[in-house]
Amino acid sequence: MAEQTLTPITVAHGDGIGPEIMDATLRIIKAAGARILEETIEIGEKVYLRGNTAGIEPGAWESLRRTKVFLKAPITTPQGGGFKSLNVTTRKMLGLYANIRPCVSYHPYVDTKHPVMDVVIIRENEEDLYAGIEHQQTPEVVQCLKLITRPGTEKIIRYAFEYARQYGRKKVTCFAKDNIMKQTDGLFHAVFDEIGAEYPELEKEFWIVDIGAAKLADSPETFDVIVMPNLYGDILSDVAAQIAGSVGLAGSANIGAEVAMFEAIHGSAPRRAGQNLANPSGLLLGAIQMLVHIGQGDIADKVHNAWLKTLEDGIHTYDIFKEGVSSEKVGTKEFADAVIARIGQKPSKLKHVDYSTAKEAIKVTLKPAKPVKMETIGVDIFVYCDDRDANKIGNALSPITTAGGLHLSMITNRGVKVYPDGLPETFCTDHWRCRYKTDKDVSYADIIELQTKVTQAGYKIIKTENLCRFDGVDVFSAGQGA
Ligand code: NAD
Repeated sequence: MAEQTLTPITVAHGDGIGPEIMDATLRIIKAAGARILEETIEIGEKVYLRGNTAGIEPGAWESLRRTKVFLKAPITTPQGGGFKSLNVTTRKMLGLYANIRPCVSYHPYVDTKHPVMDVVIIRENEEDLYAGIEHQQTPEVVQCLKLITRPGTEKIIRYAFEYARQYGRKKVTCFAKDNIMKQTDGLFHAVFDEIGAEYPELEKEFWIVDIGAAKLADSPETFDVIVMPNLYGDILSDVAAQIAGSVGLAGSANIGAEVAMFEAIHGSAPRRAGQNLANPSGLLLGAIQMLVHIGQGDIADKVHNAWLKTLEDGIHTYDIFKEGVSSEKVGTKEFADAVIARIGQKPSKLKHVDYSTAKEAIKVTLKPAKPVKMETIGVDIFVYCDDRDANKIGNALSPITTAGGLHLSMITNRGVKVYPDGLPETFCTDHWRCRYKTDKDVSYADIIELQTKVTQAGYKIIKTENLCRFDGVDVFSAGQGA
């Protein structure tokens, strides 16, 4: 018989309950015949405490970049400043743009308020407020930049539609908040509409994230695949997993063009460590997503169906054990043994899974960007001023003009117009945005001339933002109340 080709994967056993649930997961998938060759790397608490603020040694990147497949147990991030989130670093360094979290209820075998729930949350994984660009700008004001890019959005939206198509899903829903964030979330919504048009067989719907989240928590059975920007996805995927039954039952895949990482959604639960108590299901479900990703859907099928049968037989770890519903309370090792004993079986009541349609890893290609006519028609100059009199600032700055025709059009404080014609009730901080505009393209020399004059008038500039017009359309927000 020809020797089987083994797929190299990088494995990290993590901290807390990590080593126990990783051991259980590897035992189960190998017993089902997973054709894998593991390389172990060390990440997490020990690495952090050796003084490496990223929690991962430089040599580990080499393994990840070579195998391109990472099965990761949860880690403990030490308390205190200076330690960077290993998850965020890994996702961004390796370009893992899509986070896929299936949230399924297993009624009546696992207690849930939502017996009919099978939602896949697809979360953008690299952008949004997670760019980590934060600055304190004045004694009173701190800023975090929310970056939404067209290529980043196109990748995640297309991934969601391709996922729905490949897994026979019927509907893709988008959550965003473009009624408030018209540029950033507005782009996310617009790209959803654009790309959605290429998938006529799929139903499309859009919800403003606040009411969408309420609807998801109340009637998750009405959702199928949901795609959303990073922050909303981070929060709502935990909510969805918890209302399905337990965060301990959800796995997640982080997919990039080259590398992919698979994990449980929960953390290292240090208080449960070393007691053979933890539920390995979240990591096991992450490993099942990994098997599909590396083209071993046959093994993923076997493992997933054996796991469902184990749940259905009432063999439960402490976190999902319920008197009258469960038949046996088991530890991590015994749970793994029970799954292994059921390899080859299918659940009789719970819906069994079939990965035969998921043939290969989803690849997303970007269309070339269209050329844009880009003009600069003004600049927002942000100044620090401790004197809270908007009219005084306005009267000092409105005489300033430039050769290119820039002139003061308004001043806002926290986005609300306070000059001209502000209301005395509006609360003001020490952070003022002074908008200078004209109606034609200005040079950067003009903006520098303006900054020089504002500085000479005695105001401290803390930052500037250009006001752009793309293909004749103004692409910046108006002032509130303007
Ligand atoms: P946690 O998810 O580790 O645990 C919260 C609680 O959930 C636990 O006390 C336990 O009761 C329960 N729980 C979680 N997983 C379980 C499982 N598999 N089986 C049974 N019960 C389980 O969250 P936390 O306590 O906020 O965080 C602990 C540590 O994990 C922190 O250092 C945090 O930074 C880290 N963390 C790591 C990751 C990751 O590596 N992906 C994710 C989240 C948190």
